[in-house]
Amino acid sequence: MKYVSTRGDTTPRGFSDILLEGLAPDGGLYLPTHYPKVDAATLQRWRALSYADLAFEILSLYIDDIPPADLKRLVHATYTKQVFGTDAIVPLSKLEDGLFIEALSNGPTLAFKDMAMQLLGHLFEYELGRRGEQLNILGATSGDTGSAAEYAMRGKQGVRVFMLSPHGRMSPFQQAQMFSLQDANIHNIAVEGVFDDCQDIVKAVSHDLDFKRRHKIGTVNSINWARLLAQVVYYFAGYFQATKSNDERVSFAVPSGNFGNICAGHVARMMGLPIHRLVLATNENDVLDEFFRTGTYRVRGSAETHETSSPSMDISKASNFERFVFDLLGHDPNAAARTAELFGPKIAKEGGFTLAREEFAPAAGFGFVSGKSTHADRLATIRDTFQRFGTLIDTHTADGLKVAREHRDAGVPMIVLETALPAKFAATIREATGRDPAPPAALVGIEKLPKRFTVMPVDAAAVKRYIETHDR
Ligand SMILES: *Cc1c(COP(=O)(O)O)cnc(C)c1O
Repeated sequence: MKYVSTRGDTTPRGFSDILLEGLAPDGGLYLPTHYPKVDAATLQRWRALSYADLAFEILSLYIDDIPPADLKRLVHATYTKQVFGTDAIVPLSKLEDGLFIEALSNGPTLAFKDMAMQLLGHLFEYELGRRGEQLNILGATSGDTGSAAEYAMRGKQGVRVFMLSPHGRMSPFQQAQMFSLQDANIHNIAVEGVFDDCQDIVKAVSHDLDFKRRHKIGTVNSINWARLLAQVVYYFAGYFQATKSNDERVSFAVPSGNFGNICAGHVARMMGLPIHRLVLATNENDVLDEFFRTGTYRVRGSAETHETSSPSMDISKASNFERFVFDLLGHDPNAAARTAELFGPKIAKEGGFTLAREEFAPAAGFGFVSGKSTHADRLATIRDTFQRFGTLIDTHTADGLKVAREHRDAGVPMIVLETALPAKFAATIREATGRDPAPPAALVGIEKLPKRFTVMPVDAAAVKRYIETHDR
């Protein structure tokens, strides 16, 4: 399998070539040249597999430059009961007839990003070891992505993490989760500023190409193809749990921000998984809902980006969305030329674009429908789900469930992806239900552990000096 850029660069690259990279050289995102189709016999055989074996089968279709025995070992080291809490890894539970919740949030940081990031940790260690290289991952976080990256990379050979966060602005729980890591390769840098200051420092350091090359600076952002690929697996696993035969179809409802999670659902559907609808749910930041209703993609400014009670979906633009547009336009060189125009000059000059009617019309054939959920909807959904079913769901999952209910089709099971555990968003759970969610046993008392972090001013030069000193 080879990979090409959504903006037209067709230099053939293998999986290992793009694994450690971010954007393609032309600014596009990597996609496979085609989506392998899974035939009926294969789908039937996969039904019986464990999560790790299923992951191995799916990944093998896209990775031909890692020996199968090695890939199998990495996948089995990743998806264990020890790390994800159950043998099923992504257990499905029934809320009511035809309505299910698939738990993607039982990994170490209690959110679905662990599903992909844990695999990335193993893949990075393997690939860097094979090349005899080192990588310094530099990132900025307001909480979630940073902790998922740290828990994936802790103790891994050849990788160091330098994670900037706004000093004193994360929740005590998030701070404890990240700062209690004692691994020598994890560096928490608490910047005396806000999240945007952290992000500006990362940009400033990354734009110093000489420094970047000398210190092998990399990232683990959500556009990484390996992350997306890892997520494809749980769509298959959810389907097998919700159905008895491969004649059945299901729909998935996905709380969405950067379009990474639901893009994996799109890939699964392109491979032939019988998905009826992909229900995209946004919070008040409704860039994507607007697109799927109107064909207009309008990037928001920071003044227009709302801080909500489902904060991991607070985005102004959706970094993975370009992949879908490339597929919508035909996944070929013409599509790449148009994608390059839309996501390059159009967005830069006009802050967005509107697809022509004939360009947008095929979107329905890809199964997408969408909707939006507000703080009031979130509270009502959490309360209702708790009162009627005795189940506590987190704020992001509540957005998914609210929109899922608006798109039920008779006879088609609906699977809502649970993207975080309620314990992470206790204040809103309390507001909705009057009670505190129980923290998972492994994290009780985490706030009292010794913390390991370095406070630094808003100063890119100081951060560079810190990296220089610790890059050894
Ligand atoms: C990251 C995240 C999302 C959004 O996922 P995307 O892949 O960015 O669409 C939703 N919920 C939670 C809890 C998250 O951490």
